[in-house]
Amino acid sequence: MKLLFERSVPGRRTFILPGSSFPKREVPEQLKRKAAPHLPELSEVEISRHYTELAKQAFGVNSGFYPLGSCTMKYNPRVNEAAAALPGFARIHPLQPKDTVQGCLEVIEQARKLLCEITGMDDMTFQPAAGAHGEYAGLLLIKKYHESRGDSKRTRVIVPDSAHGTNPASAAMAGFTVTTVPSDEDGCVDLEALKAALDDTVAGLMLTNPNTVGIFDRNILEITRLVHEAGGLNYYDGANLNAIMGWVRPGDMGFDVIHLNLHKTFSTPHGGGGPGAGPVGCKKLLMDFLPSSSIGSRVFEGEMPHTLGQIRAFYGNFLVVVRALTYILTLGREGIAQASGMAVLNANYLMRRVRGAFTPAFDRICMHEFVLTLEDVKKETGVSALDVAKTLLDHGMHPPTMYFPLIVHEALMVEPTETESRETLDGAAEVFIRIREMIGKEPEKLHLSPLTTPIGRPDEVGAARNPRVRYEFSE
Ligand SMILES: *Cc1c(COP(=O)(O)O)cnc(C)c1O
Repeated sequence: MKLLFERSVPGRRTFILPGSSFPKREVPEQLKRKAAPHLPELSEVEISRHYTELAKQAFGVNSGFYPLGSCTMKYNPRVNEAAAALPGFARIHPLQPKDTVQGCLEVIEQARKLLCEITGMDDMTFQPAAGAHGEYAGLLLIKKYHESRGDSKRTRVIVPDSAHGTNPASAAMAGFTVTTVPSDEDGCVDLEALKAALDDTVAGLMLTNPNTVGIFDRNILEITRLVHEAGGLNYYDGANLNAIMGWVRPGDMGFDVIHLNLHKTFSTPHGGGGPGAGPVGCKKLLMDFLPSSSIGSRVFEGEMPHTLGQIRAFYGNFLVVVRALTYILTLGREGIAQASGMAVLNANYLMRRVRGAFTPAFDRICMHEFVLTLEDVKKETGVSALDVAKTLLDHGMHPPTMYFPLIVHEALMVEPTETESRETLDGAAEVFIRIREMIGKEPEKLHLSPLTTPIGRPDEVGAARNPRVRYEFSE
């Protein structure tokens, strides 16, 4: 497909600017460009077609099944977009006088109350812009807490080996050293290893439950109790609340601080790195340390002597909060519980349907996602998880998350989400089964996939490390 610059024709224009009624001013010579900027010259319809063609090449949740585990690529109802686009929300400025934005502050306040109720927390800040940013803020709360007690020995954070990569990274950024504890054969925290790691140098534990293999840790109350007993605090990575919202609450599991990814569970489209929000909730004992421009009267009066300060400009990504509130209010208490219930049912249904073809890494009831291991397939046939993922593309399906979590070899992590119908799940199961048959008959063919997409197998590491995002002009 041609780039805009390659379609450019000198002199072609899209716009007609009206004449200016302002007197002409001369720009000082030293500020003037020496050469005209390289801008593509095109007509409006050419630009429109270019972007429509690009959009058709991208795979989104509106194109088909998108079971990207740990990412919760569920369908986001359009009504939430409509709410976020209302001019009263979209066309405001954070420096506007407070009495002109009371409705918007009310949105944040309502969202705060509802999300605190859903998570079992006492207070929440909406400043963090994403999950990892929330982890960082939450860890600073833990740090402030120990500092405020004069407990300066606590420099370690415990993270299970199944954790999302952002957990140890955030802990390191917040100035902690990371102690990794192994998982047992169920993918859960190894209690003996946890006990051995606990002492008076532990600031806290970071945990996801259900964890990154989609399994609910049955020992959760024991785990959080052990950490508290050792004087540490418990951090809940709530990036994916899709399995538990409306059923169990991190606050009741013994967690002191959490973050949520509103862009995963609460209806903000996030493919391609769109806007996010990683609100951080906490129990009473951490409230005084929350970022300073949170919501609530005490904040606007500037009475937060122990705050960790500001970690992002103004209120965070406000329109993401509007979507989340609309989503929660349209679903209601029952709808929220039904959504996560369906997410778990769909994952278990699909896991059972593909179990004959591929091996689940942990063969027990899963939560909102499950992990397959293709270690045996790879050994027998040379076909890897990557080959299968690429072949799925030829069957009109977005591949699951690959090679994550790291503790499972040749992993494919499938998260169907609650918004898929039984027919879609049956269709996906048939595709997995058909691919397993292909592997039996013509394994070498899978190394060639995908054959039907605009590009085949790009150099993904190269694309991430050395992206070429500028057009190189010949002259
Ligand atoms: C997505 C995710 C994160 C990171 O969230 P970002 O918004 O991408 O920073 C952290 N933990 C888990 C378990 C996740 O799935």
